[in-house]
Amino acid sequence: MAAMASTLPPERFALFLALRRGLPLGLGALALLAALVDHAHKGWWVLVSVGLVSTVWPTFSRGDAYLKVRASLVRWDAFWVRALRPFFRTLGREDEWILSFCGFHNAKVREALQGKKARKAMVLLPHCIQLARCKAPVIGDLAACYECHLCTIEDVLHATLEKRWEVRLTNRSHKAYREARAYRPDLIVAVSCTDRLLKGLVKVAETPAYVIPLGLPHGMCVDTTFDTGHLLAAMDALTEPKPRLAPVDSEASAS
Ligand code: SF4
Repeated sequence: MAAMASTLPPERFALFLALRRGLPLGLGALALLAALVDHAHKGWWVLVSVGLVSTVWPTFSRGDAYLKVRASLVRWDAFWVRALRPFFRTLGREDEWILSFCGFHNAKVREALQGKKARKAMVLLPHCIQLARCKAPVIGDLAACYECHLCTIEDVLHATLEKRWEVRLTNRSHKAYREARAYRPDLIVAVSCTDRLLKGLVKVAETPAYVIPLGLPHGMCVDTTFDTGHLLAAMDALTEPKPRLAPVDSEASAS
């Protein structure tokens, strides 16, 4: 299984952005109309309208301004994602809806880190990428992988050794959040299913994150997979490369 670095794919977020901006603006316009009709509560309607429109403004923030408002913006955006999630579920487009939200913030993070790459990045991976029948104790130590070529962990291990990534493979979301808070990275690159990506973005909203969805060819939490080339491309594009370790001189160390 070879992992090839490629360029980062374009982010798709038109669906999320259309509703994230369109709904508050539409409701704000309706509140203004109500103010024209309902004179007794005119002030309240205007306040509602201003409040709704003000929730849209941070979605236009970019670069450092985005990073400053990111935590509150992610939480607000997640509110809309959750509010409309049942609707998209009935349409059979739930994943598309959540990934559109993820794509919006991926694009913002990419833009914010242009020319100012992360120096202390952390990769978070779910344990279910390990083949279910494999007994290698890779949680806590990726190097325990036997490199049998059967799952993506081998690719991650090679990249981790070569590029000195900080990687955590966890079997519980709360452990991943705890690891991220303890390490205090300036960028998280996380791989997970759409539901956990949404939760993770909210739980660790204060840290910029670039997220990559899992493939679920065998259903949830079993022998999942992901595009390791996408992970390599994200790390190459968004993080400062670490200096390679000097090879050990075996003769010198033996003498
Ligand atoms: S590549 Fe490593 S972790 Fe994956 S199945 Fe083989 S030994 Fe197990």
